[in-house]
Amino acid sequence: MEIIYLDNNATTRIAPEVFEAMTPYLTNLYGNPSSMYSFGGRAGKAVSEARSQVAGLLNAKETEIVFTSGGTESDNAAILGVLDANPKKTHIVTTRVEHPAVISLTKRLEKRGYSVTYIGVDHQGMIDLDELRESITEKTAVVSIMYANNETGTIFPVEKIGAIVKESGTTFHCDAVQAVGKIPLDMERSHIDILSLSGHKLHGPKGVGALYIRRGVRCRPFVVGGHQEKGRRGGTENVASIVGLGAAAGLAGQNIELENSTVRAMRDKLQELLFKDVPYTLLNGHPEHRLPNTLNISFGYIEGEAILLLLDEHGICASSGSACTSGSLEPSHVLRAMGIPYTAAHGSIRFSLSRYNTEDEMTTTADLVIQVVKRLREISPFGKDKEFTAPGTAME
Ligand code: PLP
Repeated sequence: MEIIYLDNNATTRIAPEVFEAMTPYLTNLYGNPSSMYSFGGRAGKAVSEARSQVAGLLNAKETEIVFTSGGTESDNAAILGVLDANPKKTHIVTTRVEHPAVISLTKRLEKRGYSVTYIGVDHQGMIDLDELRESITEKTAVVSIMYANNETGTIFPVEKIGAIVKESGTTFHCDAVQAVGKIPLDMERSHIDILSLSGHKLHGPKGVGALYIRRGVRCRPFVVGGHQEKGRRGGTENVASIVGLGAAAGLAGQNIELENSTVRAMRDKLQELLFKDVPYTLLNGHPEHRLPNTLNISFGYIEGEAILLLLDEHGICASSGSACTSGSLEPSHVLRAMGIPYTAAHGSIRFSLSRYNTEDEMTTTADLVIQVVKRLREISPFGKDKEFTAPGTAME
């Protein structure tokens, strides 16, 4: 059975060019980049080349890039590193819709005596900039706000956020794990101080990521050990994966137009087909300020997990906004923060595309979703007599 992979916000396939670039460093070129001899030097050169590719994608300087083990480490390193550099400041500002890589950390920090302000969002997942402005105090060490949401794709007004944070003299960390490679970013023109990214979200390998740390921004090392990464992150470099991340960043730069034209058009087509033929559906996320690859829909009166299981029988991979399989009946914290009622959040499905999808896959997926939803609604115990209304965006 052919797979139709529509879960690219969870992880992406490794681009063939990335695999090819990595292979020598998993086989023959196994030297340690820190070694004196030229065999190790070749690995060191490859790491430098990857640094320049990542810097290129962000329009940053090579000296501003630090390699990490992925998005989660980058987020932890950024927040803890800034707190460590500002020991007198004990307040953190973030949002209610961040990834667990941020929220689990801030929850833990609260237990250690830090105070955290969680800014809310409206029903399209957008934050209130006045609330942000008012939440920053002279005690605030770091404002950590994501670029684009992994579940809904809603893109925050990051430059306006950055201007507010800059005015306050605080440090702005941005989790851009879902944005990098999907929309153009330019650190030279940005107010972001520290940015997190992850290899496996942009057709690179898993277990590798990077931090952009603007020159002059105070952020102490999180993983301490050897002198690698100029003392900013200890541990022998994961050379092959770093090379893969570099290659993926290079390819992402070449394909950024495609993400915003072809991928967006495929996503819009899927959206249109589903909204045309499936009644009681709502769009979760901002209709315009949204990643070009992401489509999150609530299907009224049914469980998202049931839809996923039936789609899986046909080789379609997507994800849902509830997590019954993990033993929790709580729907996603993101959809709850947006005020989406339990029933609608439970019926939510996220389709996330990549440049490797095709238009035909959109038609096949839409046909199947239409059938599956119809079948599930016929056996649904939820009362269809009640109008399906939620504060999501009803589409025509
Ligand atoms: N931040 C966001 C917004 C994400 O979507 C993810 C992964 O889903 C992460 C952080 C964590 O990245 P990683 O899986 O590389 O640790």
